[in-house]
Amino acid sequence: MREKEIQIYYFCINFSFLVNNTKCKSIQKGWFDLKKIGIVIGVILIIALGMYIGFKISGDPQTNLAEDKESSIDNTKNIIQENIQISSVETSVNDEKTTPNTIITYKTYYTKCKHYIQEYKDIDASLVNCTESELKEKCRNWNIEKFSSQEVEMSRDEEKFCNQHYKLKLENNVIVVYNVDENGIETEYEQTGITTEYLTEEDILRLTTGIIIYGKENLTSTIEDYE
Ligand SMILES: [Zn+2]
Repeated sequence: MREKEIQIYYFCINFSFLVNNTKCKSIQKGWFDLKKIGIVIGVILIIALGMYIGFKISGDPQTNLAEDKESSIDNTKNIIQENIQISSVETSVNDEKTTPNTIITYKTYYTKCKHYIQEYKDIDASLVNCTESELKEKCRNWNIEKFSSQEVEMSRDEEKFCNQHYKLKLENNVIVVYNVDENGIETEYEQTGITTEYLTEEDILRLTTGIIIYGKENLTSTIEDYE
């Protein structure tokens, strides 16, 4: 085949179905059959289409791999979460017990003066190594509001006067604490030894009138403020 004919021949392969050129046709007669080329192209197109559809249906294998990995991670997460749930259920089933280090808070509401008195106490020996239900049995007058091996909180109402009403007064320039009962009768409770020397004029004025304080804890913190 001459060089020029070869060039035309390749041109014909590429555009054989479009070409309407006499030179091409004459060459096609010798070397190619347009129909055959058409069939070959058709077959190639069908195979390519088939591969494309097949590829789309089965999905990208790398994406599948990634999805598989993700789903296995999800499964692991689920298993871990289930384990956490199971262990938390087990903890609540296995009742905690009080220890010698458990701190007990007793909260009493005194209905006559409407005061809440809160007391923190070290645990009594008889209440050590008790579950919540055992503690309920032993302290029937109390409602258990919080229960853990570190701390227990119990509350109850009492139709009484709290008897923790105090009055701070000045006597001979020294702060004295009085206890005030439900009838308003004052009895000396404590000599603080705190003199007016370092007190402000405002404090001295208030102490001269008398400062009423409810609860032992408030009394202690107020005295500390004056010291
Ligand atoms: Zn009270």
